Amino acid sequence: MIEKTVNEKGAIMMKFHTKNVHFQEKMDGAEVSKTKPIYQTSAFSFTDLDDMEAFFEGKKGYMYTRVGNPNTDDLGKGVADLEGAPAGVASASGISAIMGGILAVAKAGDHVIATEDLYGGTYQLFAHELKDFGIEVSFANFEDLSEVEKAIKDNTVLLYTESVTNPLLRVEDIKSVVELAKRHELKTMVDNTFPTPYLVRPYEAGADLVAHSATKYIGGHSDVSAGVVVGSEALVKKAKSKIVHLGANLGPFDGWLGCRGLKTLSLRMERQSANAKKLADHLSEKGSLGRVYYPEFVSERGHGAIVTIDLGENYDVYAFFRSLDWVKVVPTLAGVETSVTYPVGTSHRPVPKETRDRLGVTGSMVRISVGIEDAEDIKAVFDRALEKSKK
Ligand SMILES: *Cc1c(COP(=O)(O)O)cnc(C)c1O
Repeated sequence: MIEKTVNEKGAIMMKFHTKNVHFQEKMDGAEVSKTKPIYQTSAFSFTDLDDMEAFFEGKKGYMYTRVGNPNTDDLGKGVADLEGAPAGVASASGISAIMGGILAVAKAGDHVIATEDLYGGTYQLFAHELKDFGIEVSFANFEDLSEVEKAIKDNTVLLYTESVTNPLLRVEDIKSVVELAKRHELKTMVDNTFPTPYLVRPYEAGADLVAHSATKYIGGHSDVSAGVVVGSEALVKKAKSKIVHLGANLGPFDGWLGCRGLKTLSLRMERQSANAKKLADHLSEKGSLGRVYYPEFVSERGHGAIVTIDLGENYDVYAFFRSLDWVKVVPTLAGVETSVTYPVGTSHRPVPKETRDRLGVTGSMVRISVGIEDAEDIKAVFDRALEKSKK
């Protein structure tokens, strides 16, 4: 069989690693820099009124940075390319990308069903802010889709879930969620922050919208807050309109940093996933921990870079956090350096205690974001922290 090597525009088709570094177009003009310059400007000038008209007729790219900027557009496009989606838009944060996506589908009077094991910040947006917009959100157990189906009402428009959940790392059965949504003529939106398109591509599995906190693996270096939502041209146009008109646009330098980070996504994920698997296996072998959470299978390429441990009865959680040597305690994840978080104290602080208890998010739980260091060093630092915190 001859493999298809060119797309409908005649361009050579690229595999993941190649696509990952070549999402930006080649530059032309007088000053051709190898990397894209930062368009650190609030607006773009017109040569004359015809030139201005050309913008409003859609024949010319840029007018005002809140409405569009080459650096932020590149980030939206780069993530869309890797997700296999036709369009994408970047925004000031993961939360604003999620908000843009939700408002592209739901308006006042509509109902959304979201998974109950949501990222804490998304829970806050759904349970409080969207309510004030007149959008009703119910939370359901997506592990049992019959429960989700029972929650569907006449005004339901969207099912919302996460491809791999935080901090328990439940792997969503996206195809089944999409199938249920389609059966009821609903849209599906998936937060794909944890596995990234390197491991999971929900749009290709039929999801209508896919959101990212680019603050995490897309950026990858913990130096930028950004978000991206991708999907069809029509839905992304609506999401972009919300992001632009609610003022949640991303700044040019942050867009540039996001693109700079994105170029090494595949390498970072490859290494971080491999390290995480090694650490999860190592910690599981000990048998002294309450529990080690690491997905059995996410993709052929790996199973993600987060390992969550429940210290259980044998270790003191305060002593553990004091004994981490070079590992930083930070309320985020996904950087190139290994770091740890205390979910109950940070991401899950806004989640009601009853919900946390039902989900199994405990006070002895530690979420480890595994970095690109040598696996042996990562194992050693956690071995020592466990030794020092043994009761
Ligand atoms: C961090 C995170 C968000 C929110 O992203 P921000 O960039 O902090 O706004 C949403 N979903 C998941 C899964 C996250 O980890």
